[in-house]
Amino acid sequence: MSDKPIYVTQPFLPPLEEFTGYLEQIWKNKTLTNGGPFHQQLEKALCDYLGVEHIALFNNGTIALITALQALEIKGEVITTPYSFVATAHSLLWNGIEPIFVDVDPNTLNLDPLKIEAAITPKTSAIMPVHCYGHPCDVDAIQEIAERHNLKVIYDAAHAFGVQCDCGSVLKHGDLSVLSFHATKVFNTFEGGAIVCPDAETKHYIDQLKNFGFVDEVTVDIAGINGKMSEINAAFGLVQLKHIDAALEERKKVDLQYRSLLKDIKGIRCLEGSGEKFSNYSYFPILVEEEYPITRDELYKKLKDNGIFARRYFYPLISEFPMYKDLHSSVPSNLLVASDAAKKVLCLPIYPGLMSEDQERVVAVLRSPFSR
Ligand SMILES: *Cc1c(COP(=O)(O)O)cnc(C)c1O
Repeated sequence: MSDKPIYVTQPFLPPLEEFTGYLEQIWKNKTLTNGGPFHQQLEKALCDYLGVEHIALFNNGTIALITALQALEIKGEVITTPYSFVATAHSLLWNGIEPIFVDVDPNTLNLDPLKIEAAITPKTSAIMPVHCYGHPCDVDAIQEIAERHNLKVIYDAAHAFGVQCDCGSVLKHGDLSVLSFHATKVFNTFEGGAIVCPDAETKHYIDQLKNFGFVDEVTVDIAGINGKMSEINAAFGLVQLKHIDAALEERKKVDLQYRSLLKDIKGIRCLEGSGEKFSNYSYFPILVEEEYPITRDELYKKLKDNGIFARRYFYPLISEFPMYKDLHSSVPSNLLVASDAAKKVLCLPIYPGLMSEDQERVVAVLRSPFSR
């Protein structure tokens, strides 16, 4: 068997020849950033592709999250999940907001709507759920709670590019949804992100916020930031978008193959979707349960020794990092489901172009503790 390394993901790159024409165009018109032609084209193309009305592009997903909170003037406390990438909670700290961690649902590992209301206080102003692994949150239940308590909802939709539920794009839920186009994501612009906005007025305000707060050449009326996406990144996104359907199709094949290969391995549980009509197969999380002969960390190491670099997304929990661990909502007894998942989860390699032989190599290691 070959022992070439297999990483959890490989960036999705379209054919280089297709990109060079765009570069020549940039060199010719000398517009490098500040909402140039490719930036405008990509916003339009993404709206069409994703089935949403308004998108504001950003230089990365984290600045987009920070700006989304600014746009809605969120203050005080925000209810969020500890089971996510650390940028979710960091965007709150950067706005002087206290994250209030609430436990996740054992089936989806998304924020558990049944536990949200108990965490609401007079200081609560919003809920920031994450569509973890691209599986939609219980958007209806969350919306209902938000309306009852007059809270805003900002979705960290960094994993949810292209995901559809019965009512269309999952990105249409909440007051704002935030995407990441980082190199490791399903759709990437090297670095990049976006805010999905419900109306033209909101997009206009967010466009102003991401450009230092400029209204015109001589007028600045809000303390904005530099969140602009460059023309190079936007052009790359346009090329990439032409290949996204094929890439998603390949991910789907990998997903189905794992499910069939792993079906009868005792103690390995594949996480199911959560009712999406169209998935993006962005991650392939498994849970290493008690019945499995070795622990998750032993399996992680065994894979590594065989050149397979699975990742423990999400371990540690955000609430365990030093800037969060002393918050009252971070106590482990408040986050039992999330703590358990963080101990058991392992994300297996999945990306367009992952060969079926590679998957068999991964699964052979998963089977090996049974044959000792
Ligand atoms: C990737 C990611 C982010 C941050 O996006 P960047 O574009 O890397 O800044 C935020 N939240 C989640 C859940 C992510 O996976």
